[in-house]
Amino acid sequence: SLSERLEGAFKQLKGEGRISEINIATTVKEIRRALVDADVNYKIAKDFTDRVKDKALGEKVLTAISPGQLMVKIVKDELVELMGSTESELDIKTNPTVILIAGLQGSGKTTFSGKLANFLKSKKNKKPLLVAADIYRPAAIDQLKVLGGQVGVEVYSEPENKNAVEIAENAIKHAKAQGNNIVIIDTAGRLAVDEVMMTEVSNVKKAVNPQEILFVVDSMTGQDAVNTAKAFNERLNFSGIVLTKLDGDTRGGAALTITYTVQKPIKFVSMGEKLDTLDVFYPERMAQRILGMGDITTLVERAQEQFNEEQAKKLEKKIRQNQFDFDDFKEQLAQIKKMGSIKDLLGMIPGVGKAVKDLDISDDAFKGIEAMINSMTPAERGNPDLIDGSRRKRIAKGAGKEIQDVNQFMKQFEQMRQMMKMMNKIPGGAKGLKMR
Ligand code: GDP
Ligand code: MG
Repeated sequence: SLSERLEGAFKQLKGEGRISEINIATTVKEIRRALVDADVNYKIAKDFTDRVKDKALGEKVLTAISPGQLMVKIVKDELVELMGSTESELDIKTNPTVILIAGLQGSGKTTFSGKLANFLKSKKNKKPLLVAADIYRPAAIDQLKVLGGQVGVEVYSEPENKNAVEIAENAIKHAKAQGNNIVIIDTAGRLAVDEVMMTEVSNVKKAVNPQEILFVVDSMTGQDAVNTAKAFNERLNFSGIVLTKLDGDTRGGAALTITYTVQKPIKFVSMGEKLDTLDVFYPERMAQRILGMGDITTLVERAQEQFNEEQAKKLEKKIRQNQFDFDDFKEQLAQIKKMGSIKDLLGMIPGVGKAVKDLDISDDAFKGIEAMINSMTPAERGNPDLIDGSRRKRIAKGAGKEIQDVNQFMKQFEQMRQMMKMMNKIPGGAKGLKMR
């Protein structure tokens, strides 16, 4: 899968101090390939990875997170920035606000019109009027009427009139008379961009002067979507994009390519045929979808917050001098706990999230260890070698544990210290080990 491939590329970064030109070459290539796989146009993917590379070079790698995770975060942040950082709201202050819906046939215009009417009525307290301006297919009027009926919104139509401009103008008069503060005009589409359709929709635009022109595009059409978006934008200079059919298994790379190409915000995503499956667009979520990852960025952010460099250096020094003791251990535990529950943390790792969701992982194991450390005297904590049999018995009692628990914990702690000692004997420490 995509995220596996990315992680594979990231693995080689482990153990490096800073991200350098050489150690991200493969990673950058993998990211580019991943984006192209997600339907992002090649040239855009290349521009994008160049930007990511510039940002990543020289970034300091924190001990708490792997360089790979840091790269993922840089990539994701960059994606979010490209897709418009924050949600882009509709401009609905004018009374009535006219919203023109345009796009190819089958892209989901009529369905979206119904959803939008529902959204504005129930979430924004508006009184919308739906307008059937598709003059080529009689069934289109009925389709909109069914949708309007389901959401309790009036549908304006003139079945005998073959002039979309007139219908739109009359609908606005009707809206003003009836007190509708939103007019949603659903237009006709063709299977491909053609002159008749373009002329008609731009004539409607000229006549009604809409506050919003929303270009509806099927997210499953991939690369083609870009050319369609370009053609519509040149003629209509639309104000926003609506991505439909995101409930399919498309990765949504089209979202990135289209916004990047036409420099217009995505305002809504449609995720199903039910009328309440419309959502405002969150660049953050789309970035994660494109990258096929769990919430790894949150994990990285928390790690960056919680692990300060000073502490990390102090700890490293103690490890180097074979002085790692129970106080240090306790401090590490506290750090991990500050980042959230163990289950939450595991859940944020891509690929692990699903697996742990149903498991009963509690923080009790950690509580037991903490209790044992708390039962030690300061002298014992600072000098673990002091802890003999009778002291172990006392510690077990104080922590409400069995002596076997203390023995096991002591054994694990000793193994950990042995490992640290071995690392220190190798020139260059852990890095030296890796190089052999
Ligand atoms: P129009 O020709 O642009 O008006 O497109 P329609 O609204 O008639 O939609 C075309 C087809 O796509 C219909 O079968 C819709 O039910 C379907 N459709 C529209 N939006 C979505 C969506 O978000 N998800 C899915 N799965 N199907 C959709
Ligand atoms: Mg339609």
